[in-house]
Amino acid sequence: MERRRFVAATAITAGALAACSRPPTAGPAAASTQPIHWKMVTSWPANFPGLGAGAARLAEMIGKMSGGRLTVKVFGGGELVPPFEVFDAVSQGTAEMGHSGAYYWKGKAEAAQFFCAVPFGMNAQEMNGWLYHGGGMELWRELYAKFNLVPFAAGNTGVQCAGWFRKEINSVADLQGLKMRIPGLGGEVLQRLGGSPVNIPGAELFTALQTGAIDATEWVGPYNDLAFGLHTVAQHCYYPGWQEPGPTLECMVNKTAFDALPADLQAIVEAAARATNDDMLADYTTQNQRALQTLESEHGISLKPLPDDVIAALRTTSQAVIEEIARKDEFTQRVYDSYRTYLEGAKRWHRVSEMAYYAAR
Ligand code: CA
Repeated sequence: MERRRFVAATAITAGALAACSRPPTAGPAAASTQPIHWKMVTSWPANFPGLGAGAARLAEMIGKMSGGRLTVKVFGGGELVPPFEVFDAVSQGTAEMGHSGAYYWKGKAEAAQFFCAVPFGMNAQEMNGWLYHGGGMELWRELYAKFNLVPFAAGNTGVQCAGWFRKEINSVADLQGLKMRIPGLGGEVLQRLGGSPVNIPGAELFTALQTGAIDATEWVGPYNDLAFGLHTVAQHCYYPGWQEPGPTLECMVNKTAFDALPADLQAIVEAAARATNDDMLADYTTQNQRALQTLESEHGISLKPLPDDVIAALRTTSQAVIEEIARKDEFTQRVYDSYRTYLEGAKRWHRVSEMAYYAAR
């Protein structure tokens, strides 16, 4: 009896040892032992200050944090796929990862725009609050899951500039016939006020403005606009960036590829995206002030405020456009309701915190 028990126990132990020493052949556990190599396509010129550099840092961080178990090779816009085909490329698995801005995908889903920038909407701090702790991220994940994508917030520029104009803007009438590069909801608003919005990739802005193919462009702000030399082809720079008060940049991951990762690599992707989200805003906060000084002191450029009546018209029209878009489908309405509720609360709080402090210091 005792001997039989001993033999049985030995057999089990031997079997367990054999199972342990057997090399893994399939499943997520096996995947974790082999280095995984991903491609990241982006909507920015390779290593472009702020945006492209942020994407590059994200890729580098994932490689380092995973000890090389997951590496990401970054492609600038046009290197693997054109800048505005990032969404499709990652959705279809041509690349496992992308870095872009969700407002470029309004043709796929109107609601996507709420996860990037809404005219007169939330700033960077408020976007982070809504996405991470106010229900925004859950809605974003729900939307992108339909496209086999998992989104992450991965950068923010802070409040942008209203843009560079070849002619002065003194009244709402000056927006009539204005051909301007301005993507997303901001472009829709300009159109309602008689302008002609176009969306062209950042890398083409200088030439378009120089040749007069467009009359104006918004891009980002002093840091990036100076890098493109926009001040040499348009003399009038206006503020504030009503159209993009704190756009969230996105890291999107092919859902099939993400789901196949072991849990620790998934956590690394998420943490690296979050770190990038934070770091990019710090980068812009630092570099924009330096570039503003360069524009003012070395190039004699004075940024000008948009006239009050222009701002008022833009704000009223923005509200109408946003509400109209929200009514287009049930999901967009849900996203808008969540966004608006958070924004109203943030405005009440920030009236007595951020705004009061800015005014007081
Ligand atoms: Ca912009």
